[in-house]
Amino acid sequence: MAHTMTGYSLPESPREFGFYMDGDWVAAGGREVFERTSPGHGVPVSRIPRCTQSDLDASVASARLAFEGRHWAGLCGADRAAVLLKTADLIRDRVDEIAHWEVLENGKPISQARSEVLGCVGMFELSAGLARALHGDSYNNSGDGAFGIVTREPIGVVGLITPWNFPFLILCERVPYILASGCSIVAKPSEVTSVTTLLLAEILTRAGLPDGVFNVVTGSGGTVGQQLAEHMDVDMLSFTGSTSVGRLIVSAAGASNFKKLGLELGGKNPQIVFADADLDDAADGVAFGIAFNSGQCCVSGSRLLVERSVADLFAQKVAEKLRSVKIGEPLDESTQAGAITTDEQNRTILSYIARGQEEGARLITGGSALNTPLGQYVEPTVFCDVTMDMAIASEEIFGPVLCVIPFDTIDEAISIANDTVYGLAASVWTKNIDKALTVSRRVRAGRFWINTTLAGGPELPIGGFKQSGWGREAGMQGVEEYTQTKSIHIEIGKRSHWVA
Ligand code: NAD
Repeated sequence: MAHTMTGYSLPESPREFGFYMDGDWVAAGGREVFERTSPGHGVPVSRIPRCTQSDLDASVASARLAFEGRHWAGLCGADRAAVLLKTADLIRDRVDEIAHWEVLENGKPISQARSEVLGCVGMFELSAGLARALHGDSYNNSGDGAFGIVTREPIGVVGLITPWNFPFLILCERVPYILASGCSIVAKPSEVTSVTTLLLAEILTRAGLPDGVFNVVTGSGGTVGQQLAEHMDVDMLSFTGSTSVGRLIVSAAGASNFKKLGLELGGKNPQIVFADADLDDAADGVAFGIAFNSGQCCVSGSRLLVERSVADLFAQKVAEKLRSVKIGEPLDESTQAGAITTDEQNRTILSYIARGQEEGARLITGGSALNTPLGQYVEPTVFCDVTMDMAIASEEIFGPVLCVIPFDTIDEAISIANDTVYGLAASVWTKNIDKALTVSRRVRAGRFWINTTLAGGPELPIGGFKQSGWGREAGMQGVEEYTQTKSIHIEIGKRSHWVA
């Protein structure tokens, strides 16, 4: 292992992984292999098999067998809870290892990766309780001759397709809740960040999850991802990623077996700042909302709508904060923002920065790639004088690029906030409770923050309005999404005959 200056190591050669099926690793063998290079260091770190259609079929068959065999679905909630709690313990034991792989493949800072993994422990702990609390409903109001019961049943085999920006966190915002419902899973992580999904599979087996309940196929979205979306024996698919791929998923489900879909897609999320806010707190929150994870969050606050009377002053405060963000070596404990995860994403961000300048927006900070010998990093960037007809104001950039748009009235702020095809998240900053609640009611977004941003916990469901998606993940709602209800009507006593 080559050591960095930080005490963490970079592998001297990329580590070889297999995929995971039926409770065990399957070696890459003669399959094609994808080699991942660390975006923060420019060195190869992992080699992952490109699974074939027959690998996928075998994985779905394994999940189906486990489901129909009732090896997991048939257990009582308390037994499922025991496995989920054990998983939480094992993740806690391996937090450094998982966080290290997140850094190597994604490029995020190590301190952030560690706290994300610890957050995932809480999701497994909560889901253990939810597995025990999951229940249906009853109707005792149909008269003495009848009784109605509504039961919840696990939906079956779930496909799970995840993106590269929070490989372990997004996985754990779904897996424990899906498992709490009693379903089996075939997961397909992003090709560039597969390792921590594979590690979770190994951990789940060690925690006592029956074989076949959690399987991982690896490979590209266009091949094995598309095949998973088209698969006739998958009952539901949870997809998290771009809105454009989301459209392909909807078509694939419609053209195959009408599998139920959960979709968590893109966002162009407003941060609405009123002049009566604590402007220092708001500036810190807005800087965090756009620079955290280098802006590669579906919920990044990428549009700053600010009351005109304080717009220039406030934009300068945010710019000052952003200039102080520590960007660079993700393995350094003090780093706050790491690398841009893929070459393609790096090019996209830089091209939007050029486009903003061409469109006439005024750059007040950032605007360039960082000059580092290895890896790819972009300075947090702020554009003022942005209008909603500019591409940088309406399209998801998925990078540390903030667009400042002034407003004069609360109605105008709400109207600009809603002037987007997306509806994932929004924040408002004000000390006036009437304004805060009015804005929270009228902005169309699945997650809303008042005097904070990018906050949450495993209890609160997440998901989007409009083209940001369908359905909700996490919390009790995130368990119920993976069940279907069955209405059972019971007649009591002697039947009143239809045929005399
Ligand atoms: P992406 O859409 O390119 O890929 C997401 C996943 O889908 C990957 O695993 C990929 O391999 C797979 N995929 C690609 N093409 C596919 C196909 N034809 N069929 C099936 N699967 C396919 O997204 P990304 O670049 O990995 O992530 C960035 C995007 O994800 C952004 O748009 C971001 O807003 C969105 N995102 C949304 C949320 C949310 O919760 N709403 C969370 C994170 C990321």
